[in-house]
Amino acid sequence: DVTNTKGNEFEDYFLKRELLMGIFEAGFERPSPIQEESIPIALTGRDILARAKNGTGKTAAFVIPALEKINVKKHKIQALLLVPTRELALQTSQVCKTLGKHMGVQVMVTTGGTTLKDDILRLSEIVHIVVGTPGRILDLAGKGVADFNECPTFVMDEADKLLSPEFSPIVEQLLTYFPKDRQIMLYSATFPLIVKSFKDKYLVKPYEINLMDELTLRGVTQYYAFVEERQKVHCLNTLFSKQVNLTFLPQSTAPNQSIHYFLHAKMLQSHRNRVFHDFRNGVCRNLVCSDLLTRGIDIQAVNVVINFDFPKNAETYLHRIGRSGRFGHLGLAINLITYEDRFNLYKIEQELGTEIQPIPPVIDKRLY
Ligand code: ADP
Ligand code: MG
Repeated sequence: DVTNTKGNEFEDYFLKRELLMGIFEAGFERPSPIQEESIPIALTGRDILARAKNGTGKTAAFVIPALEKINVKKHKIQALLLVPTRELALQTSQVCKTLGKHMGVQVMVTTGGTTLKDDILRLSEIVHIVVGTPGRILDLAGKGVADFNECPTFVMDEADKLLSPEFSPIVEQLLTYFPKDRQIMLYSATFPLIVKSFKDKYLVKPYEINLMDELTLRGVTQYYAFVEERQKVHCLNTLFSKQVNLTFLPQSTAPNQSIHYFLHAKMLQSHRNRVFHDFRNGVCRNLVCSDLLTRGIDIQAVNVVINFDFPKNAETYLHRIGRSGRFGHLGLAINLITYEDRFNLYKIEQELGTEIQPIPPVIDKRLY
């Protein structure tokens, strides 16, 4: 996955030295295919619509050109990176900070679930890049505290999600605060029709990138287990108790008993942060979560995804388990299938051209 097609190096883009240092320190040796396609075009200021599978480095594909275009001496917001969830906002801002480490760039994260007052205070200081979710940012723009008047870069990650009916009116409203000649860049693994209508309305001669022809589920072994709805929890427990089998971090981090956490949208944000943090760091190894974390979250230690409820469509299925095959890592997906799910299982297999096999009594550890 990491090997690129054009043979470009990061040095070929004439980036600022400080930015190159950040890139190499992050351990990136050469651009991934989506980065090769995206970075040079993005640097010219052209609108971009980019589609590439999960785990191929889309974040850096827009963060690198966004950083390159920042003038740190100018004390204005110069890039907005819009994402659909709080966790993704934190992760994305972390990428900005890591890659921009030597640039002296100021990155601000702003999402719902935190106090507005803190954000207003933060905005009285220098901010070059804003990363956040639509509602809060519109709030700040509307109040005149966040000034996007001279902000040339408008990025949407997981763009299809941001253009779903839940968010799209907010996004369109937000755009009115930007200069007319702003550059819009959309990134996602899937682009349903709603994205096309947004493209036709707002993007100017967009450069379209589509790297989805590659195998999307490569490296991910997929199993299904037939189970009755009321037996699902029991089945999950059995899977967890076979943890020796499902171990993806050193045993020492989990003394005999296993730790299970859960995460969903109705939880307190501070609690959500703690759970997410612990999960990231391997303190908690089993996370039961809603669809909240299916988009864009990159946790390398996640090798196993269990679909407690089988997704209704191929797109959701891809988003959920696509993560487990990130950057060539192997992954395992286990689907709990009820009698009602059986046609859907077949349909998704057909649509994705993939095979979901019955779960064997013992799962070969070399598969994940
Ligand atoms: P996507 O948004 O396409 O799902 P991410 O941007 O989350 O993918 O990146 C997935 C992983 O790949 C991250 O851990 C990131 O650090 C790593 N990565 C990104 N670009 C490179 C690169 N050029 N070389 C090596 N690793 C990279
Ligand atoms: Mg992403």
